[in-house]
Amino acid sequence: MNRTNVTATMNMDLIEDNPYLLLTPGPLSTSKRVKAAMLKDWCTWDDDYNRIVQDIRGRLVQLATKETSLYSSVLMQGSGSFCVESVIGSVIPPHGKLLVMANGAYGQRMAQMARMLNIPLVLLDNGEVAPPDLGQLEQLLLKETDITHVAVVHCETTTGMLNPIKGVGVIAKKYNKTYIVDAMSSFGGIPMDIAELQIDFLISSANKCIQGVPGFGFIIAKIDEMKKCAGWARSHSLDLYDQWDKMENYNGKWRFTSPTHVVRAFYEALKELADEGGIIARHNRYKANQRVLVRGMKMLGFETLLPEPLQSPIITSFLYPESEAFQFQTLYEKLKRRGFVIYPGKITNANTFRIGNIGEVQVEDMIRLVDAIQQETFWT
Ligand SMILES: *Cc1c(COP(=O)(O)O)cnc(C)c1O
Repeated sequence: MNRTNVTATMNMDLIEDNPYLLLTPGPLSTSKRVKAAMLKDWCTWDDDYNRIVQDIRGRLVQLATKETSLYSSVLMQGSGSFCVESVIGSVIPPHGKLLVMANGAYGQRMAQMARMLNIPLVLLDNGEVAPPDLGQLEQLLLKETDITHVAVVHCETTTGMLNPIKGVGVIAKKYNKTYIVDAMSSFGGIPMDIAELQIDFLISSANKCIQGVPGFGFIIAKIDEMKKCAGWARSHSLDLYDQWDKMENYNGKWRFTSPTHVVRAFYEALKELADEGGIIARHNRYKANQRVLVRGMKMLGFETLLPEPLQSPIITSFLYPESEAFQFQTLYEKLKRRGFVIYPGKITNANTFRIGNIGEVQVEDMIRLVDAIQQETFWT
C-alpha cells in the first residue's frame, strides 16, 4: 500500500456514518440499528444463527399472506437478480414455456434469463410507459396453449410504474398457469397478500423495502408448487428447490456459505419494520414521501413521466426540464455535495431521472431535497 492509499484509508474512517442519503431504488439508506447488527461474526451453520434464519423465514411468510400454512420462504445468496434467475431456472419444467410481460428493464431481464437458459419464451412487451395489456395476455394464452408459466414485475423500477398483478393473476389462473412475480422493489413497502393475488413464486431482496443491506434475496412460494420443482434446476448453485429443501429440513441451514452479517442485519430490519407499525405504516410513509416530493418538484417546474394512477410510491421518474442548459450530471454532483444521491433515468425514449422514496427516508428529507434543488437551479 503506498502513501496515498494509506491516507485514503484513514480518511474513510473519519467519514461520518451517512455522508449522503440514498434516494435510489436500492441499496438504500439504512438505519444505524440495522448497520450495528453487523458488528458481530456468526457461524454459518451454528444453531443460534440457523434459528435466526428460521425466524426470518417465518416472518417473511407472515408479511406475505394470511394463509401462512400454504406458503414457505427460502433465502438465496446474491443480489435480487440472482433470486429471479434462480426462480426462472428452477421452477419451469423441461418442456415448459414462459410468458414474460415486460414494460421495462426488469421485465426484459427476466426474458433475457429465460433465453440464456434455453427456456422457450413468449415476450409480451408493451413499451416502457404503458401498463401490461391484459387483453393481449389472454389472447396469447388462448393461442399458445403450451405456455406453462406467466411472469411479471410488480413495481417496474425502471419507471416507477405499478403493474396490475391482481389482474394478471386472475387471467394466469383462469388458464391454469404457474404465476411468478418480481416484487423486488415493492414487497414490504406495499401491502399485498400473495394468496389473494394467486402468486406461486414471489421474489424480493434484502436491500429494498425491508430496508436491510445488500447480499441476499428471498422467494416466497406456494409449498405445493415448490414441491413439484425437484430436479428441474438448470444451475446447481441457483437450485431453488434444493436450497429450500435444505433450509426446510435442516432447520435453517444454507447449502453454501451464507452472508451472515447481512442476514443478521436483515433480521434487525424485520424487527424495525414491525416497530414502525408493519407494512401499512411503511407504505404510508413512502406515500407521504412521494406526495411531498412530487408536489415540491412540480412547484419547481418538473413533470413526472407517468400519470398519477400508474405511479408507485417507491420511485418517481421526472422528465428533464425543457432548458438546453439542464444537465443531469451537474444536478447529480451538486446534490451529492449537499448530501443526496439521486438516480439517472433508465428508459430509452425520454430523458428522465429518478428519485426514490424508500429506505430510512422521511418527509422532512424530501422537503430538504426539494429545497436543495431549488437552491441549485442552474438551468433557468
Ligand atoms: C432491484 C430490482 C431487481 C434486482 O436488481 P439487483 O441489482 O440484482 O439487486 C430486480 N427487479 C426489480 C423490479 C428491482 O427493482
